[in-house]
Amino acid sequence: MEALHPDVKDILLGEDEIRDIVARMGAEISQDYADKNPLVVAVLRGAVVFMADLMRAIDCPIGIDFMAVSSYGDGAKSSGVVRIVKDLDTKIEGRDILIVEDILDSGLTLSYLIDLLKGRGPASVEVAAFLVKDVPGNTPAVAPRYVGAHVPDEFIVGYGLDFAERYRNLPYIGILKPEVYK
Ligand code: 5GP
Ligand code: MG
Repeated sequence: MEALHPDVKDILLGEDEIRDIVARMGAEISQDYADKNPLVVAVLRGAVVFMADLMRAIDCPIGIDFMAVSSYGDGAKSSGVVRIVKDLDTKIEGRDILIVEDILDSGLTLSYLIDLLKGRGPASVEVAAFLVKDVPGNTPAVAPRYVGAHVPDEFIVGYGLDFAERYRNLPYIGILKPEVYK
C-alpha cells in the first residue's frame, strides 16, 4: 500500500490496479492493430506516465510521437481554449493514429486535436484515455475507443496528472483535497 500524500484525499487506483488496467488496454490495442503500424501519439505532459506503461503493453509494431496542448493553465477548470504548444514531428498521411490521453473531461481538448489531425489525411484516428471523468449531465465531445477507468467529478492527480505541475510523480491516481486548489 502506497503512503498517502497529505494533499490527497483518497486513492482511486493503486499501482496494482493501474498495472492491470494498462495490461488490459495494451492487449485490446495489440489485437486491433495486429497487422498495422500505428503512430501512438501522447498528449504532453500528463499522458507521459501512461504512455510509457501502455507502449510496453503493446506487442505489435508502433511508432511514437508527442504533442503538447494547453487548455487548463494552472487552474482546475477547463478554459475551452486549446493552444498547440508542440506539434508532431511525424508525417501522418495514410497512417493509423492512436492518441493517448491522461484524462477526458469535457473532451474539448481532444475533439480539437482529432479535427486537427484528421485534416492531415490519416487512415484512422482513435483515442485511448486512461481516465474518463463522469460529470452528471455532461457528455464528453469525444468517445474514446479504449478507456482505462471512470473517475468521479473531482480533481484527480498522480500517475502523470498534475495540479500546478505538482503531484505528477505520485505512483497512484488520487483525489486532490479541495482546500489545496480552492
Ligand atoms: P477536457 O478538454 O476534456 O475538459 O480536459 C482535458 C484535459 O484537462 C486533460 O488532458 C487534463 O490535462 C486536464 N484535466 C481535466 N480534468 C482533470 C483533473 O481532474 N485533473 C487534472 N490533473 N487534469 C485534468
Ligand atoms: Mg492532458
